[in-house]
Amino acid sequence: MEKNLHPTPNNKDFIWEKWTKLNEQIPEKGWTWQNVRSGNAGNVEWIEQQIYYDMLYTFRLGALSPYAKGLLEGKLLGTKCPKCGDITFPPRINCWRLDCNLEITEWIEMPHSGILHTFTICGFAAKSALKKLPFVLAYVLIGESKTAIANILKIEEPWHVETDMPVIIKFTNKQRVGNLIDFWFEPAPSWNPSPMTPEKERIKKLCEPVYEWIKILKRSM
Ligand SMILES: [Zn+2]
Repeated sequence: MEKNLHPTPNNKDFIWEKWTKLNEQIPEKGWTWQNVRSGNAGNVEWIEQQIYYDMLYTFRLGALSPYAKGLLEGKLLGTKCPKCGDITFPPRINCWRLDCNLEITEWIEMPHSGILHTFTICGFAAKSALKKLPFVLAYVLIGESKTAIANILKIEEPWHVETDMPVIIKFTNKQRVGNLIDFWFEPAPSWNPSPMTPEKERIKKLCEPVYEWIKILKRSM
C-alpha cells in the first residue's frame, strides 16, 4: 500500500520570512489580490496559490497540481480509478474504496455541466463577499462524478433554485488563479424555473431584508 503514497514536495525554496510580511502589503480590497506560481521539488511538481480573502490564504499543491493547472487553462480535471472506475471531482489522488488499496487514480477531463445536489442561500458572508449577497452556494455533481463540489451558483432569483436542476460551468475571462474562484455555476440554458410555491414565497421574503441591507451597504462603501 505504501508504494501508492505520494512524496510531499519539500519546502526548501520557501522563504517564510518574506511571507509573513505579505499581509501588511496587501490592501483591503476583497479577494482581488491573487498570485500563482509553480515549480519542482525533487521530482514532484507543485503549484502554489495566494489569495487574499479578508486575510491571506496560501495553498500549495503537490500531486494535485494538475487540477490547479487545469483550472488555469479553463479545464476541469477530475480523477478516475483504473480498478473500480469511480470518478471523482474534486480529484482524489488515491481511490477512496477500501477494496482498491489506495490505487493511484488517472486524470480525466470533466464536462462543463452537472446536476445540483444540494444548496444553501447565504444571507451573510465574509467582508469580501458581502456585496454579492444573497448568493447561492451549490453542491454540484459534475459529469459522472461520485462526489460533489461547492461553488457559487449565479442566478437572478435565488428562491427558484431546486435540487436536481441542471447547471453549467462558466470560467472567468479575467486572470485565473488555479482555484475555485476561477469558475462558477449557472442554470443550464435548457432549465426553466417551476412556478412559485408557498416555500419559494417564504424564501423570497427571507431574501428581501438582505437586498435592502446590501443597498444601504453599497451606498456606504
Ligand atoms: Zn477504485
